[in-house]
Amino acid sequence: MAYLTLKNINKIYPNGYHAVHNFNLEIEKGEFIVFVGSSGCGKSTTLRMIAGLEDISSGDFLIDGKRANELGPRQREVAMVFQSYALYPQMSVYDNLAFSLMLQGVDEDVIEKKVLATAKILGLTDYLDRMPRALSGGQRQRVAVGRAIIRKVGIFLMDEPLSNLDAKQRVTMRSEITQIHRVTGATTIYVTHDQTEAMTMADRIVVMKEGYIQPVGTPRELYFSPANVFVAGFIGEPPMNFIRGTVRDGKLSFGSNTIDLKLLGRTETSSYEGKELIFGFRPEHAVLGSVEDAYQFSCRVELTEMLGDNTNVYVASGEDNAILKVDPHDTPEMDSDTVFSVPFSKVYLFDGETEEVI
Ligand code: ADP
Ligand code: MG
Repeated sequence: MAYLTLKNINKIYPNGYHAVHNFNLEIEKGEFIVFVGSSGCGKSTTLRMIAGLEDISSGDFLIDGKRANELGPRQREVAMVFQSYALYPQMSVYDNLAFSLMLQGVDEDVIEKKVLATAKILGLTDYLDRMPRALSGGQRQRVAVGRAIIRKVGIFLMDEPLSNLDAKQRVTMRSEITQIHRVTGATTIYVTHDQTEAMTMADRIVVMKEGYIQPVGTPRELYFSPANVFVAGFIGEPPMNFIRGTVRDGKLSFGSNTIDLKLLGRTETSSYEGKELIFGFRPEHAVLGSVEDAYQFSCRVELTEMLGDNTNVYVASGEDNAILKVDPHDTPEMDSDTVFSVPFSKVYLFDGETEEVI
């Protein structure tokens, strides 16, 4: 049985706003789950309902199979880290770490042992006497994480904990949090709007869109086998290219180019005659020039962005646009005409109406 179960969870705020719709999810003990989605899609609301900081309007929340809707945050055995570090400014790092244990009346020598062990995991041993104001953003966030993990709770919740850090600190803390999870094995739900964090940290990713949960999967599943256009476009940078069109004689057109769908050898496409279909391919799967077993497209290069390890090439044909991710040595000239290929094996097709993968 799952450790945490969310069954048809809804959140309707007192002002009538329906922020979370029929949220269903089962989380196994020890899993690292990431909720990802753009601002306002209901990630924090869902996390706060799990934490017990927000009432659940309807549905069941179970911990270890037992209904927990009515339990307060303390009884749920959760620890939470927020975007704002929420440290006690007048207390040293040591006391910040020790505080929750002191409240619980834990023996001082036990507290000391735990504080030292936690500080060691987080690289804070040399900073125990410092006050929060004398720490960098990354160090403060580490103290906040330390305060959460020092209590041996079953559920560890983090809401955008890295968004106040600069890019470099974010990368460091990202791997540290993954490492801490490996050591503690605590069931973790991590909220972010950053798909890179989701891809690198998660056992499973929960993409949310406007209060609705999207099909859940591992990072590999979401990248290689996305269930719908939204998930396909959300995971990957630059996002997947989509060409929408009506199928005529088994063909779709991309500007002046025609795609013969029969070449894919997929019988499902025959039922789309006269209907809308979405042709998708990832920028990194496009190849400049012509290769075999691929669709060829002629297009115009509108813009190139050299990023060091790759170049993003923005191309257009008629009204249609796409981004190609190519080796910087192969960067085409801006305003030139070029040809690129999309291997048949890298093509995604989605239903134009439901936007679900075919
Ligand atoms: P996220 O964390 O994904 O950015 P939130 O869960 O904070 O999104 O918010 C989801 C939606 O619910 C937003 O449209 C937000 O404006 C709304 N919302 C959040 N808190 C309240 C509240 N207390 N009352 C009414 N609406 C709220
Ligand atoms: Mg939020």
